[in-house]
Amino acid sequence: MSQRHPRGTLFASGHTTPAGLATLITARKPVSKPVKARAAEAANPIPSRADDVYARLLQAINDGRFRPGDRVLETEIADWLMVSRTPVREALRRLESEDVLARATQGLTVAEMGEDELFELYDLREALEATAAEFAAHHATAGDLRELQRVLELEAHVPQHDNLSMAAVNRTFHIALAAASHNRYLSKTLNAMQDAFLRLPSTTFSMGGRPGKALEEHSKIVEAIAARDPAAAARHARAHIRASRRTRIRLNEQVRKLASERDGPGKPPKVWR
Ligand SMILES: [Zn+2]
Repeated sequence: MSQRHPRGTLFASGHTTPAGLATLITARKPVSKPVKARAAEAANPIPSRADDVYARLLQAINDGRFRPGDRVLETEIADWLMVSRTPVREALRRLESEDVLARATQGLTVAEMGEDELFELYDLREALEATAAEFAAHHATAGDLRELQRVLELEAHVPQHDNLSMAAVNRTFHIALAAASHNRYLSKTLNAMQDAFLRLPSTTFSMGGRPGKALEEHSKIVEAIAARDPAAAARHARAHIRASRRTRIRLNEQVRKLASERDGPGKPPKVWR
């Protein structure tokens, strides 16, 4: 790990957890609760300590506290988060199995996400967000629409320069959109994909003009859902993810340029640094 110290309070929500799967499995036992209530519990399981460590580490990578190539030591993470080593070990194992961490000669390090993988991620996200928006136009309840509107209002009030808050509100918006689709497999898959996006250091909301545009795009998706127009909802969701992808490409180009200016032309640029 580098000399930089993790700081501040980190959180991430909405990630898919093994605990969630366990809840889903136990929910099959005969219980007195209505199916809807059990489904809600399965979608929002109480996170275990290892889940929390996992979410915080992903967020720390996204915030740039840990960068590709940095060593990740079990003892340091345990000290930083003030937890025992057991949940840290479990979280690190999970991050390694998801290729967020890689085993190098010096131990576990933060893995780089190559461009191929990034584009595969965007391709699938585009298809799934469009499906979620389409389903939401069919199935969103009045409560779902209120929640989506609430997140839009929140988004409108975040200062445009506050990239991290923007990214967090964006995440909340997409979790609400997935929930409004009323398809738990789609929600779980989309929420897991959001975790994959946390592996990318920095956020597209750091690019000038992007926060305002994203709010416009989100608003169009919600308008189409409220109008019960599945085709328009899907179209606007696709357009939103494509715009985000174009911004990510521009962001990467800037990062690459800065890296090559810093490291000199002789060194291969560290794409994500
Ligand atoms: Zn968005």
